Amino acid sequence: MSAVFISDLHLSPERPEATAAFVSFCESLRIDRTERLYILGDLFEAWIGDDDDTEFAEQVVSALLALREVGIKVFFQRGNRDFLLGKGFEKRSGATLLPEYFLAYERGKKLLLTHGDLLCTDDHDYQRFRRWVQNPVSRWLLTHMPIRWRRKLAQRWRNQSAQANTNKPENIMDVNGEAVQVVLEKYQATTLIHGHTHRPFRHELQVNEVSAQRLVLGDWDELLWWIRADTEGLVLENARIGDFG
Ligand code: MN
Repeated sequence: MSAVFISDLHLSPERPEATAAFVSFCESLRIDRTERLYILGDLFEAWIGDDDDTEFAEQVVSALLALREVGIKVFFQRGNRDFLLGKGFEKRSGATLLPEYFLAYERGKKLLLTHGDLLCTDDHDYQRFRRWVQNPVSRWLLTHMPIRWRRKLAQRWRNQSAQANTNKPENIMDVNGEAVQVVLEKYQATTLIHGHTHRPFRHELQVNEVSAQRLVLGDWDELLWWIRADTEGLVLENARIGDFG
């Protein structure tokens, strides 16, 4: 009887061990009788469009379908790396696409969920890029390019991020404290869960003199990170990748 939150898995054909870990992780959710799985963005390192029919994409889709078959509801948000995920993926995987900010109610608690990139307001270059790719015209252009071109583009994105991998956490700017306050106030929530920054932690804060918390998920690298909402409340957990898969 619980819900599980994950983000920043960055699955790609280049990291079969991460995909295998994800498949095993999904199996463990079935055994634990988890009720809902929330994927808060960047499930994929690069997503070229919902018509991606590679074996890799199929593997991830089947793991999600298997969850649905046993009645586990799966929800996902787009991240900055898989911003082209859309309706087609929903249909294929049985998972539900959530808006960039979403209020989930788990165990009587109101939880504000988001990928986290929108909160990194100090990264002006990135916010400009985000506005461009989120624009309906750019989205249309990107998803209507021949699949061969898109595969090349995805390959390039993955290579670029692999090069930047060594100093990744430092490269991603942290969230802006004021932006966090603003969204918690806007959504009248006292708990925020996000990923993106690869800085897993539980932050205690004050919003209008009310105590609030910001839980940050970690990315899936040597460690796999998740948050479980059950009778013990919200718990940030991790395991070594070798223990799964
Ligand atoms: Mn991200």
